[in-house]
Amino acid sequence: MTSKEPQRYEQTFFDVFDTVTTIVIYDTSERAASAHIKEAHALLTEYHQLYDIYHAYSGLNNLYTVNESAGIVPVAVDERILDLVAFAKDMDTLTNGRMNVAMGGVLTIWADYRQAGLDDSDNAALPPMELLEQAAEHANIDDIVIDRAAGTLYLADAGLHVDVGAVAKGYAVQQVMEQMKRDGVTSMLLSAGGNVCAIGTRPDGTNWKVGIQDPYSGGYLKVVNVDGQSLVTSGTYERYYTVDGVDYHHIIDPATLMPSTHYDSVSVLTVDSGLADALTTGLFSMPLEEGMALVESLDGVEALWISHNGMQTPSSGFSAFATNYEN
Ligand code: ADP
Ligand code: MG
Repeated sequence: MTSKEPQRYEQTFFDVFDTVTTIVIYDTSERAASAHIKEAHALLTEYHQLYDIYHAYSGLNNLYTVNESAGIVPVAVDERILDLVAFAKDMDTLTNGRMNVAMGGVLTIWADYRQAGLDDSDNAALPPMELLEQAAEHANIDDIVIDRAAGTLYLADAGLHVDVGAVAKGYAVQQVMEQMKRDGVTSMLLSAGGNVCAIGTRPDGTNWKVGIQDPYSGGYLKVVNVDGQSLVTSGTYERYYTVDGVDYHHIIDPATLMPSTHYDSVSVLTVDSGLADALTTGLFSMPLEEGMALVESLDGVEALWISHNGMQTPSSGFSAFATNYEN
């Protein structure tokens, strides 16, 4: 009796983290594959609801609830919310405040002006700096108070709200993949928007091939060989609006309160999808020298920066994983 060769199964979802999620999994039976995909999707849905800052769900205290209770009362939340916020605080420290989830006020102003500008492009406008500066006074990460013993999260500043858009998707993907590994999955790729995470390689031992987009053409620039890692890319082309002929994208530099001006995209390759997600956003607002020093100081982390003139700067170990995309 020969044991069955694993087959490739693929499924796409549109209902988690406001993006397209694709799961590729190799399993020995369709039944096993669909059970694994079903569980991954169910877990992603739970994380999505817990980390949602835009919607309330009946019977659930999520980050929307926490934001609504800012300055009023600590909220009893699922441990997975405390874990995400603790992780985000660590990432704030690691990125020297460049990735700051307490900056929700500033980010909401930008998101509102962006949406208005997209809806009515003739009247697209920039948010007044005074408004941004007022919001920035309520962005102190220390005002996000985690009480593990009580199981609560409290925003100690009534004017603060959290925006976990820079880190929640990657963090959730990582947690889901950990569960898949515990369930015995050995070959899987989960892609949620620009956030790709792998378990192992393909069953024949070949690496997963993950593309890095060309910020200008919409095609691919690089192919990255992935074995059990995550590749996350943040790009100016993902979300932006145009004011007086200038594009304003969605990653905001906490120092200037304006869209970060250093790069057109930043990609990070490492084993932890949450780290990769947080780092791409943080690196976006860091000068190259500082970002490079940070990446080089971290074990098993590689990055690729693409500057406005299209110049590509890889970290020292990046090129070992990447080839140019040939079409
Ligand atoms: P994407 O969500 O497009 O994959 P990112 O991971 O870079 O890309 O996250 C961008 C989102 O993070 C923004 O839409 C916003 O909600 C939030 N954000 C933008 N700038 C910052 C920042 N400096 N610190 C924390 N969050 C940010
Ligand atoms: Mg990010």
